[in-house]
Amino acid sequence: MGKELLDRGAGARHFLLGNEAVVRGALEAGVDVVTCYPGTPSSEVPDTFFKLSPDGPYRLEYSVNEKVALEVGAGASLAGAATLVTMKHVGVNVAADPLLTLAYVGSPGGLVLLSADDPGCHSSQNEQDNRWYARLAGLPCIEPSTAMECKDFVREAFALSKKFGHPVLVRTTTRVNHVRGPVTFAALPDKTPPAPFVKNPPRYVPLPVSARAMRIGLLKKLDALAEVADASPLNRVSGEGTVGFVASGICRAYLRDVLYDEGLEGSVKVLDLGFSHPLPRNLLAGFARGLDRLVVLEEVDPIVENEIRALFQRRGIACEVVGKGETLPRFGEYSTDIVRGAVRAALGLPPVAATLCAVPGDLPRRPPNMCAGCPHRATYHAARTVFGDAPVYSSDIGCYTLGIQPPFSAADFLFCMGSSVSAGSGFAAASGRPVVAFIGDSTFFHSGITGLINAVANNHDLLLVILDNRTTGMTGHQPHPGV
Ligand code: SF4
Repeated sequence: MGKELLDRGAGARHFLLGNEAVVRGALEAGVDVVTCYPGTPSSEVPDTFFKLSPDGPYRLEYSVNEKVALEVGAGASLAGAATLVTMKHVGVNVAADPLLTLAYVGSPGGLVLLSADDPGCHSSQNEQDNRWYARLAGLPCIEPSTAMECKDFVREAFALSKKFGHPVLVRTTTRVNHVRGPVTFAALPDKTPPAPFVKNPPRYVPLPVSARAMRIGLLKKLDALAEVADASPLNRVSGEGTVGFVASGICRAYLRDVLYDEGLEGSVKVLDLGFSHPLPRNLLAGFARGLDRLVVLEEVDPIVENEIRALFQRRGIACEVVGKGETLPRFGEYSTDIVRGAVRAALGLPPVAATLCAVPGDLPRRPPNMCAGCPHRATYHAARTVFGDAPVYSSDIGCYTLGIQPPFSAADFLFCMGSSVSAGSGFAAASGRPVVAFIGDSTFFHSGITGLINAVANNHDLLLVILDNRTTGMTGHQPHPGV
């Protein structure tokens, strides 16, 4: 999808990637500033902004890392700019320091943080559920399930953020970022000059004396946002019956498919939870009225499930809650078949065989590998030829992590972006063994550079190899400060 995304008029209908729909939603919200660090499955969002940027009415930057991206975005929002900050789920860990104070200070121009989570670890080192960050940092959390919702929910997230002067977390997952579906455009707004920043240090500088008041203000704001969630059109109730389903994210799409396939539409109650934090408490209490059993469908951690259990306990609501560990797994992505199993079990229907073809057990494994002509291959070959098995190889995040595969076998441990230098330093100091650390150029600028400064300052003994291919290769050749 190209320049059509910049069409100013309403009514056009296009078949968009979820990430492209996020871009259109931000444009319909009048986004002024976009910052990011690329990472699958979020990368197509900034890359689409980049393609459109010669004509786009916004400022885009590929920031050096996620912390910097969020800080640039926070400053832009203070200056009155409507700001979108995008990253993958583990990137939010890097941005966690400013994030946990952002809701205290606020974002007057509006700030939407897109966290693209990766249930099932398709392209990530862990499966963390970033809805926790909404709870930890005091942010509303919005979860689209289709391409159309990616657009509309991002626009709604901006409206909410501007109204409350408060950052909003939009949490997507791989299947939502990479879904394709029809999207109907609304008109793009005429830009208005941002409200000027008025100096007010007690409001914007969280010294302890101010931070206490800010914290109390944040809690009040979250109560007000819970009432907004109660009435939000992003939370929809449908159907009738004594069995109910509360679904969020892509689980909502799976549930729709199952109810359609099984001829159950309308004969069970469904709460489509698009605005999942703060929990719409009054809406949920009303939804549970007349239910004997309520099934919670959410990927990764039982966050909504446990909040519903606590809500029912506080309000004395006698309704069985079914969630993780019963018919639903704690690990990995859900699927239509997993949701079908939960629906049939909740209704007392016998299980049916999975509709997916079974994978033969004797297929050869085909793990991802570096491209045939990748220059990292020659580097690893040279390192192995010179050093062999003698050193311990400290690896990092990038295509070159695939140096773990034979014949290179050049990755013995790995934690996160930038960790090869500092974790290698610690290992060498504690063990006395030789360490060779590998890191790519983009990852070096992202967070490896501080580990190198630390290694020099503290006299660590390791060999650092910077694999400098002058681009951010793994996520699609984005620029970085070394280019
Ligand atoms: S850096 Fe990554 S994308 Fe580029 S050639 Fe190597 S493996 Fe392929």
